[in-house]
Amino acid sequence: MLAFSYDRAGSVDEALRLAQQPGARFIGGGTNLLDLVKAGVEQPQRLVDVSRLPLAAVTELPGGGLRIGAMMSNADVAGHSLVRERYPLLAQALLAGASPQLRNMATVGGNLMQRTRCHYFYDTGFEACNKRLPGSGCPARAGVNRIHAILGASAQCIAVNPSDMSVALAALDAVVVARGAGGERRLALRDFHRLPGDTPQRDTNLAPGELIVAVELPPSRLAPHSHYLKVRDRASYAFALVSVAAGLEMDGGTVRAAAIALGGVAHKPWRVPQAEQALLGRPLDAAAAAQAAALMVRGAQPQAHNAFKVELARRAVIRALGVAGGMA
Ligand SMILES: Cc1cc2nc3c(=O)[nH]c(=O)nc-3n(C[C@H](O)[C@H](O)[C@H](O)COP(=O)(O)OP(=O)(O)OC[C@H]3O[C@@H](n4cnc5c(N)ncnc54)[C@H](O)[C@@H]3O)c2cc1C
Repeated sequence: MLAFSYDRAGSVDEALRLAQQPGARFIGGGTNLLDLVKAGVEQPQRLVDVSRLPLAAVTELPGGGLRIGAMMSNADVAGHSLVRERYPLLAQALLAGASPQLRNMATVGGNLMQRTRCHYFYDTGFEACNKRLPGSGCPARAGVNRIHAILGASAQCIAVNPSDMSVALAALDAVVVARGAGGERRLALRDFHRLPGDTPQRDTNLAPGELIVAVELPPSRLAPHSHYLKVRDRASYAFALVSVAAGLEMDGGTVRAAAIALGGVAHKPWRVPQAEQALLGRPLDAAAAAQAAALMVRGAQPQAHNAFKVELARRAVIRALGVAGGMA
């Protein structure tokens, strides 16, 4: 059995101080970290509970944006009236994830930091996993890789990021606000998660000991024309095979702005600026949606068991754009 100490932080400063101890890890809702501890994947020596920090509110930003505290539960964010009104895409993505019980426990900070669901990462019966043990190899490459990446993978790792929330946040150009020993830092969501490259053990650009304190959403005009589509093996309580967060700003029938992010296909939410630009200044018709969808999966390199994801992602983008734009 793993022995670890437990402290509940009373303030952000105390949390940051406690996090400097060797082997310390923050714990929010614990819905991912404790599973990983039980599986023997993570072995923290000290847990710093940040779930009761006074960072569980939604506040309005000048111009119409929102700041969402990192300790808000996924359920509370999804149900918040300002989130539902201004960022329905985020509420939809959150409600597509996990189960009501899990969403009540899971925090915004923990959701951003949740780890991949690659079977080979989770199952320590497989000794090799570059994400668990750098340099040991990637059994998923020659193994069962139906759920794995089709975009942005490396020779070292083909895992995907499992978060629904992060896909919507990517489309909404969210900013992650973090506090560390050096003060506060802001990271654009699109730069927050990393591609695996040669360092698949690092999922994000958060520094060790840094605490996520909030997520900020800039003002958005996408709300009336947005849609989160999640395709999975079961109708609920399953991770995405492919998901799409799509938002459009329409001027009559013409697309003025577009944001599309794909989930379930890469080590981070996947955005392709050229795909969004292809929609601008023209009506959202079948040809425009098909062109954008093709650009979203351009360069895809499927594994042995997941070539279906390329076509699935392409069709999911067309479908999500159609619903967002009122075509479907
Ligand atoms: C059965 C099951 C099904 C699920 N299905 C889905 C799904 O369909 N879609 C989906 O998106 N998710 C799904 N999830 C995952 C779920 O969303 C995550 O477990 C949850 O969001 C993690 O949040 P948490 O607060 O519990 O994190 P924790 O488990 O407490 O922490 C996770 C990680 O984040 C770090 N951390 C926590 N808070 C902070 C912070 N403020 N700053 C820095 N680091 C921090 C911790 O150190 C840890 O490394 C599922 C989980 C389970 C168990």
